[in-house]
Amino acid sequence: MRNRTTLQKGDALIIVDVQRDFLPGGSLGVPDGDAVVPVINAYAEKFRAAGLTVAATRDWHPADHCSFEAQGGPWPPHCVRDTAGAGFADALRLPPEVILISKATKSEADAYSGFDGTDLAERLRAVGVRRVFVGGLATDYCVLATVRDARAAGFEVALLTDAVRAVNVDPGDGDRALGEMQELGASFVEMQDLDVAA
Ligand SMILES: [Zn+2]
Repeated sequence: MRNRTTLQKGDALIIVDVQRDFLPGGSLGVPDGDAVVPVINAYAEKFRAAGLTVAATRDWHPADHCSFEAQGGPWPPHCVRDTAGAGFADALRLPPEVILISKATKSEADAYSGFDGTDLAERLRAVGVRRVFVGGLATDYCVLATVRDARAAGFEVALLTDAVRAVNVDPGDGDRALGEMQELGASFVEMQDLDVAA
């Protein structure tokens, strides 16, 4: 079920972890993950042109991060800060005034959500944001966690369903994540559903 909506003051775009290591060929590549890049570029341009806030989160781990297999975590090494793999996708076009959020920057704690251990909520509120549009990677991990925390922090949430892809470690994880986000009150939006106020 999708909803038509009009972008307005108080809206912001949150781009979740569109980093090289999460693209096909990366150390933790999300299947078809590169397909979100041109779509997110189009959203970012739409928000920028409307004078709205754009935020981008990134996994930004130390080399001995607790989520890595060598430390007993579930994942291969990925998004080690200041390495090529941690960089944003080459084709991603972020506006110059983007709010850049680095997360899981300490060895001992992981953070799937862009709000976890960061000042994202404060920075959004400081510029009057009330509703966030969320896209990026991956649907069943960092996008889901970001949507959960956005709702818990009191933001309205619209999930950009054409700008997310799932890992699906277990088949159906992506669909289950969509179901949970809907239950949390997130609406589902695609590019063609989005109008810009005249
Ligand atoms: Zn990570």
